Amino acid sequence: MKGQYEVFVSKDDFKFNAAHFVAYPGFRERLHGHNYRVSVRVEGDRGPDGYVVDFGDIKTAARSVCGELNERVIVPMKSSSVEIRVEDGQVAMTCEDGSSFSLPEQDCVLLPIEHSSAEELAAYVCQRIVDSMDALHTRRLSVLEVSVAEALNQEARFRVDL
Ligand code: ZN
Repeated sequence: MKGQYEVFVSKDDFKFNAAHFVAYPGFRERLHGHNYRVSVRVEGDRGPDGYVVDFGDIKTAARSVCGELNERVIVPMKSSSVEIRVEDGQVAMTCEDGSSFSLPEQDCVLLPIEHSSAEELAAYVCQRIVDSMDALHTRRLSVLEVSVAEALNQEARFRVDL
């Protein structure tokens, strides 16, 4: 029968606990945290082994990126409204409203994003999985989609065509 295969993986350990605040010109959230959860969806052709993709490859890639983000303060390095300086092992963030934070660099994760919204985090995690998962390039996969949930039933998704 003609159809399209899809694989979805969401595991209890696809999660990271992190602190953040979203800021844009004229607005800043207070620093707060979420127990983020990640899931991954792939579309593609079934290979000769019967799989679209090995679940293990997805699990390894997703757990790796979750580990990098876990128990960190997320710092959006491309922010247009937070001035960020990294020196002597400290990350200094100065906001438009005059508030400032200084945190040990080892407690932060510096990401190439503009805002630490669930949307931009989903795009970042998606990019990291694309970069780290060799199977994405050796199998005939067409779509990778990553969901990042800040809370139950509150999530953002980012999808790329491969
Ligand atoms: Zn938040």
